[in-house]
Amino acid sequence: MDDLAHSALERRRKRAAAKSRSKSPGEGVKASSATAKRQDAAIVRPSRSEAEAAVRTLMAWLGDDPDREGLRDTPARVVKAYEEIFAGYGQDPGPILDKVFEDVGGYGEMVLVKDIPFYSHCEHHMAPFFGKAHIAYYPDGGVFGLSKFGRLVDVYARRLQTQETMTAQILAALDARLHSRGAAVLIEAEHMCMSMRGVRKPGALTVTMQFSGPFKSDPAEQARFLSLVRGR
Ligand SMILES: [Zn+2]
Repeated sequence: MDDLAHSALERRRKRAAAKSRSKSPGEGVKASSATAKRQDAAIVRPSRSEAEAAVRTLMAWLGDDPDREGLRDTPARVVKAYEEIFAGYGQDPGPILDKVFEDVGGYGEMVLVKDIPFYSHCEHHMAPFFGKAHIAYYPDGGVFGLSKFGRLVDVYARRLQTQETMTAQILAALDARLHSRGAAVLIEAEHMCMSMRGVRKPGALTVTMQFSGPFKSDPAEQARFLSLVRGR
């Protein structure tokens, strides 16, 4: 696990521990995040049928009849869709970025892959947020396969997320690699929890960015990255 994800996990563990002290022991454990759950063997992952029952409970709570024909198979479909939408939990960025092409004629300039579409879900409302990710890096003795950037984004997008965390995680994954001497990640997304509920401001875009290496130390590099991303 990278440092960033690890420190986030530590914070979550501490919060969960604090919660469990203030409530009954079981309640605090249940309140911890899905990320912590994966790491904490003490928390048992519910079965598929329990997950389906939970969907059924939500539908009944909405005021609908889970037994009517149109809804009868919905819990199974929702759980199946969730397996795909949240597949990032079972994935690690390591193998995706391990394959490096070294025979590139000494290429060492910026590589930018922009307009990578993604779909994620906010961890506060489990509502979709979606948009585009733009990733640049400076190669060091080899380049990553271009398709890997789309897969890297999905590893983190297909989880319960915040856009800020996802931006930092993508950058940290690249920084952990020997063949990158600096990277830039910019994500722009619309959050359904802001568009269809809450303040209800459809169309508002949230932009997050994180830099390392030359992109962080040299304002001209940052400006170049931003103008390349904006130059459509
Ligand atoms: Zn939200």
